[in-house]
Amino acid sequence: MTDQTKRPEPELGSTLSKRGSNEPRPEQPHIRLSSHPRKGSISAPEIHWGAASAKERGPVIGSQANPPQRNVIGVHSGAYGVYRALAIAAGKLSPVHRPDLTNTFPPVDIPPQPQWLGTERIVSIDPWGHRVAAEFRDEIAAGFDIRPTIAITKARIQLPELQGALAAGRVKADGHVLLENGDTNVVKAAIEPVWYLPGIAQRLNITETQLRRALFDQTGAMFTDLVTRPDRKVFLPPIGGITLYMFGSVENLWKGDHEIACRVHDECNGSDVFGSDICTCRPYLVHGIEECIRSAQRGGSGLIVYNRKEGRALGEVVKFLVYNARKRNPAGDTAAAYFEKTECVAGVQDVRFQDLMPDVFNWLGMKRIDRWVSMSNMKFDAMAAHGIEIKQRIPIPDDMIPRDASVEMDAKKAAGYFTDGTTSAASGDLADTKGRGLDKY
Ligand SMILES: [Zn+2]
Repeated sequence: MTDQTKRPEPELGSTLSKRGSNEPRPEQPHIRLSSHPRKGSISAPEIHWGAASAKERGPVIGSQANPPQRNVIGVHSGAYGVYRALAIAAGKLSPVHRPDLTNTFPPVDIPPQPQWLGTERIVSIDPWGHRVAAEFRDEIAAGFDIRPTIAITKARIQLPELQGALAAGRVKADGHVLLENGDTNVVKAAIEPVWYLPGIAQRLNITETQLRRALFDQTGAMFTDLVTRPDRKVFLPPIGGITLYMFGSVENLWKGDHEIACRVHDECNGSDVFGSDICTCRPYLVHGIEECIRSAQRGGSGLIVYNRKEGRALGEVVKFLVYNARKRNPAGDTAAAYFEKTECVAGVQDVRFQDLMPDVFNWLGMKRIDRWVSMSNMKFDAMAAHGIEIKQRIPIPDDMIPRDASVEMDAKKAAGYFTDGTTSAASGDLADTKGRGLDKY
């Protein structure tokens, strides 16, 4: 880029004006390292987490459009808040743009549930997040930039495996949930993380100060308000969220008198999207969807909870490094070394913190799941800790396990993952279960 093509550099700490020019705002001539509490008529609305109504709870305001209105640490959109910052820096987005929420309301409502009350059962999402346009209509009209953190819509999904399941007779078309061509009707919801810091600390059995200090230090001092604003209790973390896929009647989920099938699936892009054969993720996800369809067709409902926690929340770079370390292991890619290799690279086997996972079930008012499509004890135990009953655990059928994924499956079974006898147990000697080497691709 030559000097002629470079846009003029704004002063540090300036932001774009309404017209999208680079003129610094006169009221922000310098960088503010921390926000400060304001008193009087321009103070931000208070948040009373766990209050009985949206009005009493108060809106979550993470927009930078009008800083005195803010009442949280961090910004909306999770990790995508960084792209929003880039768009503003590049002059492509006005920093004071406010979303037009006309007609964006959910086609299927999820009404308030008893579990929304209090500060214990939901601490990582805003249960009112899909209803803010209605609940805070007056405040939005008065100029508050209040944004939904949950969006609900309808979709038709087309999975090639479902066509195979139809052909094999594992599922049958009913013209409503599942169509003749394998298309499936669902209601889906996208949920951004909204953390109530005292509640997160309580779940992790640490103090709020320990939590805030670690989040501040270990993100490179990204959010100074974590340590300078103890009065701000809500944090919008820059991480991925949750997507729900619901099959059949959504109301069944909280009514509690119909069969419910469910799989909680943590993201594995390599398998989920690209079909990599090193793990069972996509086959198990598809098996979960088949179970959901069958439960919905029996008059119940199905629920897939898809969490953006790639590679046990260690990320894909760590994951691929572990693959190489496993496949270059002198003894071969063995089930015996499966967890050890993750720990060698990452220092830990898993950082998904399933303790937070049940929040979404409390949001949906659920108390019981009849068919739980998972073998993970961590997920099972987290649900039990919230008093959500799991009637039956459904393992992945042996014939859905890719050959190279037998390393993962045997290692997990040996580590105590659930198995019900319909699937093969881990082989006696874990050193015998080997995946292919790097020279076999
Ligand atoms: Zn996987």
